[in-house]
Amino acid sequence: MTDYGSAITDNRLRITDYRIVCLAGGVGGAKLAAGLAQIVPPQNLTIIVNTGDDFQHVGLTVCPDLDTVMYTLAGVANPETGWGRAGESWRTMQTVTQLGGPDWFRLGDLDLATHLTRAQLLGEGQTLTAVTRHLCTHLHIQPVILPMSDQPAPTMIESDDGRILPFQTWFVRERWQPSVRQIILPADVKATHAVVRALETADIVIIAPSNPFVSIDPILNVYPIRALLEDMPQVVTAVSPIIGGQAVKGPAAKMMQEMGMEVSATAVAAYYGDLVDLFIYDRQDEGTFVGAGGTAVALDTMMLDGDGRLRVAQDVLHTSLNYLNA
Ligand code: GDP
Ligand code: CA
Repeated sequence: MTDYGSAITDNRLRITDYRIVCLAGGVGGAKLAAGLAQIVPPQNLTIIVNTGDDFQHVGLTVCPDLDTVMYTLAGVANPETGWGRAGESWRTMQTVTQLGGPDWFRLGDLDLATHLTRAQLLGEGQTLTAVTRHLCTHLHIQPVILPMSDQPAPTMIESDDGRILPFQTWFVRERWQPSVRQIILPADVKATHAVVRALETADIVIIAPSNPFVSIDPILNVYPIRALLEDMPQVVTAVSPIIGGQAVKGPAAKMMQEMGMEVSATAVAAYYGDLVDLFIYDRQDEGTFVGAGGTAVALDTMMLDGDGRLRVAQDVLHTSLNYLNA
């Protein structure tokens, strides 16, 4: 039996009594979500996931961030790549390539089963929220995983040479090499009732250490998510994905540089600004971090393994609770 929250007992209410919502992209989001899932009872944990990366490939709807979060919480993620499933094989897409089909986006044989099932259920007219619930049930995932919207909300990248690229074309096909001039997010995308309800009833909203520009901004851009966070009476906590002037993984640091920002936890805190009540940055940056108003706390935020995820989740929750009860 899981002893929920045994490490956190010195607060008025136990952490297990609070409703936690986590905003997440793929890798960084999934790691923190997996740590949270070890502490927070599933009925009190909702993970709202970016769907700005979703795209159509070989006739299927692929949702990279939802799948990374699902596979990680189900314990079937590939620990080496940070995406896809463990024990994967590649025979189907190899054969697609032999047949002259597209080869730039890799979909493993096991992973394809997810996309086929999703295609079937979407084709029957189910919403992405319902399809995700179905997949989570069959993967034995207990916390609630919600797509930010049931409407398509594609993130586009405008490169320095003036091209407007769909996110996966820029990220995977062009290996995030074209310099980013700006990120274009769609107008008029609405959150689902489930997302709005989760945020309205949340005690603590945690913005995972995901890419602020292409994972978190696309979620905040969905109406009325940003406004709900601004009005939250409780606490919005963000964790920096930038440690020691670098991204742990992926293009966040490169993007910041190209968009004329300083690459630092300080710049991430300034970027989130007033939206965030509590900003968590890494101990590595203790000497250089400059806060801009709100509360900021240094923690060890590196999640190298399961223990790291649990530790960071525990520390982030504990710090948020202290802020709430201060
Ligand atoms: P993506 O959608 O797969 O690109 O994943 P996310 O946007 O959720 O996460 C990418 C971000 O996670 C990168 O900017 C990384 O710097 C950050 N990240 C990855 N692992 C860690 C970690 O262990 N600790 C912290 N603080 N950030 C991390
Ligand atoms: Ca992503």
